Amino acid sequence: MLNIVLMGPPGAGKGTHALWIAKDYGLPHISTGDMFREAMASGSELGNQIKAIVNSGGLVSDELTCALVKERLSRIDCENGYLLDGFPRTIAQAEALKTFGKEINREVNTVMNISCPDEQLIERIAGRRVCPKCGASYNVTFMPPKKKEGICDECGTPIVQRKDDNAESFKVRLANYYKSTAPLMEFYKGEGLLADFDGSIGAADLKKALVAFLEAHK
Ligand code: AMP
Repeated sequence: MLNIVLMGPPGAGKGTHALWIAKDYGLPHISTGDMFREAMASGSELGNQIKAIVNSGGLVSDELTCALVKERLSRIDCENGYLLDGFPRTIAQAEALKTFGKEINREVNTVMNISCPDEQLIERIAGRRVCPKCGASYNVTFMPPKKKEGICDECGTPIVQRKDDNAESFKVRLANYYKSTAPLMEFYKGEGLLADFDGSIGAADLKKALVAFLEAHK
């Protein structure tokens, strides 16, 4: 069974690879970023509460984020595995996941970390476009839609630029990554769960490496 945490800096390729991993291995894709964006788009109380934080590149509180993830993982569709994308992002979240994971029988058993040098991350984020409907990621330079310019290959929806994919928010997100999220690599190394992947090699080669790993670990 694959109870996966997918981690890496913003722009490393988590979203791109999460989509096919979830599909090919039949895992629910749980992206806290998507959950927050959906809440913001729906204008719910939660959405309004977190809008300013998310758009500026800040981190939503551990308490709120952990409560959302615990509820989501508790659902029956996570019984035979899941793919967490963008969670945990702090040591406190990882500790909480460890505790409630045991409690609800959803312990993490695989952590895949995608690393990538900063210069490449900046380039990728600047050109990134996403599908607001299905979450597919594109890049105007490196990975444009194949069928029609500006239109999602998967579901036909016009692709957009995320509000937080600007230079200023990116700076904050990268700083938060190094300060709060990068220490998780040591945490999961200590748990004997960490597998490292080079995200600078291009999406097709990275996919090959991830497939080889997943086939050996499923
Ligand atoms: P992402 O789509 O993973 O890049 O997430 C977009 C934004 O959602 C982040 O920049 C944060 O503002 C917020 N967010 C997503 N996941 C978390 C998390 N685990 N903890 C706190 N904030 C998060």
